[in-house]
Amino acid sequence: MKTFDVIIVGKGLMGAAAARHLATQGANIVVIGPDEPTDLNKATVFSSHYDQGRLQRIVGRNEVWTRLNIESTQAYPFLESQTGIQFHYAVGCLYASVYKNDDYLQRLPIHAKKFGFPFRLYDGFDVLKNDFPEFIFPNEVKANFEAAPSGHINPRQLIKAQLALCRQRGAKVIADTVLKVQEQNGCIIAHTENGSMYRAKKVLLAPGAFANSLDLLQRKLAIRLKSETIVLAKVSEQEAQRLSSLPSLLYEIETKDFEEIYLIRPIQYPDGNWYLKMGCNLSTDIFFDSLAPVQQWFRHGNSDANLPVLKAALHSVLPGLQVQDYIAKRCIITYTGHKHQYIGPVEENVYIATGGNGYSAMCSDAVGKLSAHVVLNYAFPEPYMEQDFKPLWQA
Ligand SMILES: Cc1cc2nc3c(=O)[nH]c(=O)nc-3n(C[C@H](O)[C@H](O)[C@H](O)COP(=O)(O)OP(=O)(O)OC[C@H]3O[C@@H](n4cnc5c(N)ncnc54)[C@H](O)[C@@H]3O)c2cc1C
Repeated sequence: MKTFDVIIVGKGLMGAAAARHLATQGANIVVIGPDEPTDLNKATVFSSHYDQGRLQRIVGRNEVWTRLNIESTQAYPFLESQTGIQFHYAVGCLYASVYKNDDYLQRLPIHAKKFGFPFRLYDGFDVLKNDFPEFIFPNEVKANFEAAPSGHINPRQLIKAQLALCRQRGAKVIADTVLKVQEQNGCIIAHTENGSMYRAKKVLLAPGAFANSLDLLQRKLAIRLKSETIVLAKVSEQEAQRLSSLPSLLYEIETKDFEEIYLIRPIQYPDGNWYLKMGCNLSTDIFFDSLAPVQQWFRHGNSDANLPVLKAALHSVLPGLQVQDYIAKRCIITYTGHKHQYIGPVEENVYIATGGNGYSAMCSDAVGKLSAHVVLNYAFPEPYMEQDFKPLWQA
């Protein structure tokens, strides 16, 4: 059996990015993860990237997130030009909050200044509606508009680009699920669902919500898994054209049924139709503590029951939207104890990169770069700090 330098478990947003950075630095790697399932009943694990749209912003909730976002967007032109795969749409991003001076808005000028990033604050709906007439907000709203490179990305295409570059650099990409990771004579062996075994000096686990599932780790990471339901509002091509410059939206609001709306303008999906995507936290969201209920959620979860609330939320913010149909989609969010990704060593020659906290598509390239650096150099590159990403364990 060949011995690789690194096995990467999971070819989602973080795994594909980490693999690309490892391969670029000359590591001999194999990336193992299942393709998007055609039959959810036959899949063992799932992902948070089976979609065409993920919001991209720059200024994050703190300096670390902002740096990760900036570094990621800086890599996009290279990734797109080297692969010919487009995944970045810089239509801008609007952040609106009914909590006038929330933490994010208070820190925004400091972060923006530190990173030399322009921003545009709006105080009150009157001033906001001139620039964004499609959106409706309460009068007490305060907002910030980020222009390009904010907007949205296509997570499927971003992964495709990362893996294309991996292959160009000689990496092996395997469609399979790792059932068990085991130390053997100083090496790591990964056993897969198809009955194969792969050996490497190190392994990077990037399995998203499934870090505590199967036999990947000996201890359980402190992660919280939450169901996420989104609505895809099907619109005509003319309606999509009318809204083609609508910025992505993050809207901080709380009602008894939902909070924290995010939406992306209508984009074309693989079925040829145009859908505007909206999601939010729901009072009916479910928290999971093992694999079986997660599988049940992805396969048969009653996401349609959330449609009335999602529709009401959507039309409260975009009352003029002409919708032909509504489709509910199921997904999962992985929260960490300290609200940053977990990146670092977890066992002898075993490393982790997980815990997107709902915001790690937009910064996945930088998270992958950081993870690759830690795997190869046993240390975080400045100015990142190990303690910000330290994996935490269940008591
Ligand atoms: C509805 C929804 C909307 C979101 N919107 C945004 C947004 O607008 N902007 C944003 O930045 N982020 C957003 N996110 C979050 C973002 O998608 C995640 O943070 C990101 O996908 C996390 O990347 P990951 O690589 O950790 O996990 P994933 O992208 O889920 O990838 C994990 C991969 O590991 C594979 N895997 C799991 N177990 C195994 C195993 N045992 N063996 C092999 N492979 C395995 C899975 O199949 C999967 O492909 C959203 C998430 C959801 C659910």
